Amino acid sequence: MTPEDAVTAPDNTRCQATTKAGLPCRALAVSGSPFCNMHGPTARAIQALGGKHRANAYRLEDKMSPRMKNVVTLLSNAAAEVHEGRISPSQGSSLATICATLVKALETAQIEMRLSVLEVKLRGDANGFED
Ligand SMILES: [Zn+2]
Repeated sequence: MTPEDAVTAPDNTRCQATTKAGLPCRALAVSGSPFCNMHGPTARAIQALGGKHRANAYRLEDKMSPRMKNVVTLLSNAAAEVHEGRISPSQGSSLATICATLVKALETAQIEMRLSVLEVKLRGDANGFED
C-alpha cells in the first residue's frame, strides 16, 4: 500500500481486524473479504509459507561456496543500484554477463574436479584396490 492509498482508500475497503496494539488495521482488505491477507482465514498458511521460504533460502545459502555467495551478493547489490539509478541498466547487464561467465567457469571446474576424483577411484578399483 502506498501512502496515497492510505489517504484515499474508503473505509469499507480497509481490513476490519484490530492489530495487536489494539488499533484498527490500516491495510486494504482482500477483494470479497473484510480482512487483509495478514488477518484473513488464510493468514496462518501465508505466514507459514513465508517462514518456509526463508528457511529454504538460508539452507540454499549454506550450500553455496564462498565465491558463489560473493556473486549472489554482487548481483543483488547491482540490481538495487540499477533500481535506484546509481548504475545504468547496461552496466547492470554487463555485470550480469560477467557473473554468468564466472558461474559457468566455476561449474565447469567443479565438474572436472568431481570427474577426476571418479577417474582416480575407477583406476584404483580396476587395479584391485579398495578404499
Ligand atoms: Zn488486517
